[in-house]
Amino acid sequence: MIDGMSKPVLLTVDDDPEVLNAVERDLRHHFRADYRVVKASSGAQALDAVRQLKQRGAQIALFLVDERMPHMSGTQFLAEATKLYPDARRVLLTAYADTETAIAAINKIGLHHYLLKPWEPPTERLYPVLEDLLSDWFAHARSDFEGIRVAGNALSPASYALKDFLAANQVPYQWIDMENDAAVRALLSGASGGAVRLPMVLFPDGTTLAQPTSRELAEKLGMQTRAQKPFYDLIVVGGGPAGLAAAVYGASEGLRTILVEQSAPGGQAGTSSNIENYLGFPGGVTGADLARRAATQAKRFGAEIISAQEAVKIERQDPYRKVILSDGSELTGYAVLISPGMEVRRLEAPGVDELIGAGIYYGAALTEAATYRGRDVIVVGGANSAGQGAMFFSRHVRKVTMLVRGPDLTSGMSRYLIDRIQETPNIEVLANTSVVSARGDGRLEAVTVKDSVSGQTRELPAAAMFIFIGTAPRTALCGDLVMRDQQGFVLTGRDVFVDGKRPASWSLSRDPYLFETNVPGIFAAGDARLGSGKRVAAAVGEGSATVSMVHQYLQTV
Ligand SMILES: Cc1cc2nc3c(=O)[nH]c(=O)nc-3n(C[C@H](O)[C@H](O)[C@H](O)COP(=O)(O)OP(=O)(O)OC[C@H]3O[C@@H](n4cnc5c(N)ncnc54)[C@H](O)[C@@H]3O)c2cc1C
Repeated sequence: MIDGMSKPVLLTVDDDPEVLNAVERDLRHHFRADYRVVKASSGAQALDAVRQLKQRGAQIALFLVDERMPHMSGTQFLAEATKLYPDARRVLLTAYADTETAIAAINKIGLHHYLLKPWEPPTERLYPVLEDLLSDWFAHARSDFEGIRVAGNALSPASYALKDFLAANQVPYQWIDMENDAAVRALLSGASGGAVRLPMVLFPDGTTLAQPTSRELAEKLGMQTRAQKPFYDLIVVGGGPAGLAAAVYGASEGLRTILVEQSAPGGQAGTSSNIENYLGFPGGVTGADLARRAATQAKRFGAEIISAQEAVKIERQDPYRKVILSDGSELTGYAVLISPGMEVRRLEAPGVDELIGAGIYYGAALTEAATYRGRDVIVVGGANSAGQGAMFFSRHVRKVTMLVRGPDLTSGMSRYLIDRIQETPNIEVLANTSVVSARGDGRLEAVTVKDSVSGQTRELPAAAMFIFIGTAPRTALCGDLVMRDQQGFVLTGRDVFVDGKRPASWSLSRDPYLFETNVPGIFAAGDARLGSGKRVAAAVGEGSATVSMVHQYLQTV
C-alpha cells in the first residue's frame, strides 16, 4: 500500500495548456488515491521538477510526456529524466504522424508505451494501459528496504543459489556481503554465539534461517509448496511458458489444475533479460515480468502453483495418473502435462566445476551483474541466449568478450541481436574460439581459450564467465513409462508409433492426440517435446492447445 505522505509521482509534460490540463484531470480522477500528479509545461520545467523530486527522495512512477514540444522533444526529455529515475515508466503522447518517432524511442530510450491522442474514453484507452505500467513499476521499484536480507559471501556457490532462488521467485531482498560489512559480521556472530553458518537469511520479524534449502525458504516465505486438493483434473509438471499457459487455460476453463515447479515459475524464459519477439510487447518484456504476469493470471483463475518441489516420477494407475514429488508426496489426477523444458549443458573443461558460483555461472545469472560492475567478463556461446546475456552484461561491466565456436554469429543468432552486438562498443566477439580451462584461487581469475583455426591458445583474464552452450531436455521423470528419443525429447502424436503401429502401452481405440504421449492422458508440450518450436510463443501455444486435448480426453474417463 502506498503511504499518503510519500505517494509516488505521475509527472505529465505538455506545452499545450489545454491538453496538459486534460491529462492532469484524467490522471487525478483515476489515480489520486495512490499517486501524486505533477504537471509541467515544458521539458526544461519538467527537468527542474524531476531534479527537485530526486533531491527530496521522492519516487516517480510514470512520465507521461508529449512528443512535440518546442526546445526539447518528449524523447529528449525522457532520455534526461531516465538518468535520474531509471525505473519510472516512460510513455509518450503522440499524434498519428509521430508513430515512427515513438517506435524509434522504444529502442533508443526504452520507451514503455506510446499513446495516440486523443485518448477518449480514458476508461478504455488511458487507464488500463497506465494501470498495467504502474503495476509493473510497483513490482520493480524498491524504496527504503523493509524486506528480507541475505548475508553471505559474494563468491560462494550456496549464496549464489539462494540469491538465484529469491530472484527467480521475484522476492525482493537486500544482499549483505559479509566480507565487506564488518558491522553485520559482528552482529551475526554475536547473535549466533560465534560461528555464523552462511548464507543466512534475516527476516523482518527478527527470525533467521541459516543455510536453508529452497523448500524451507519457500515455506518460510509463505509460498505454496504442498497441494491443497486430494485430486486434480490436470497436473502440470514444469512452470515455464508451456506449463504456465496450460495452467491459465486449464483453470480458466474450469479444470482443477495444479502446476508443480521445482524452482520458480518462468523457466528458461524467466531468465531472459529481454524477450523482444513475443507477440504484443513491442518494447520487449523481461522474462521475469512475463513469468510474474502469467503466474498471477493462472492463480487468478484458481490454478494452484507449488514451488520448490521437483516431480521425480509419473505413475499410471488407470484411470488415474500420479506424480511423485521429491519430498515423497503424491499428486493424483486424470491427466498430466509434462512441460519440464530444458536444462543447461555443462561445459567440460578443467577448472570449471570448481568455480561454479565463484565467477563461473550457467545462464545469465542476472543477480550477479552488480558484483562485476566495471570488470571484464566472458560470455561463452553463439546463440540467442548468449547474445542476450552479452547485451545485458555490456550495460553493467567494462568489457564483454564473447567466445563463439563457429566462424561467426550468423548460424545461431537472430539478425536483430547480431546487429545490436555489433553496435555495442564494449562487446568483442572471438570467433572459432573455445574454452580450454579456467583457473582461479577461490574465484575465477582467467580462462584459457583456443583458436581452432590457428591452433593457438592464450589466457584471457576475466572476473566472470557466463556459459550459454545449449541445453538438453529435462525428462528423467518419464522413466520407462513415457517414450523419449535418444536425446531425451518426449515423443507425442504419431511419433509414438512403432513400425507404423500404436505402441503396446496405448490402450484406447483412437490414436494419440497431437501432444499426447504413448500413455493416454499424459501429454507433453514445450521445449522438452520432440519437434517443438523452442520459442516462448511456441511453448505458450503448445501449452494452451494441450488443454483442449485434455478436455477431449476427460470425456472418456
Ligand atoms: C536466456 C534465454 C533467453 C531466451 N530468449 C528467448 C526469446 O527472446 N524469445 C523466445 O521466443 N525464446 C527465447 N528463449 C527460449 C524460451 O525461453 C524457451 O523456448 C521456453 O522457455 C520453453 O518453455 P518451456 O515451458 O517448454 O520450458 P522451460 O522454459 O524450460 O521451463 C520448464 C520449467 O520446468 C521446471 N521443471 C523441470 N523439471 C521439473 C521437474 N521434474 N519438476 C518440477 N519442475 C520442473 C523448470 O524448473 C522450468 O521452470 C530463451 C531461452 C533462454 C535460456
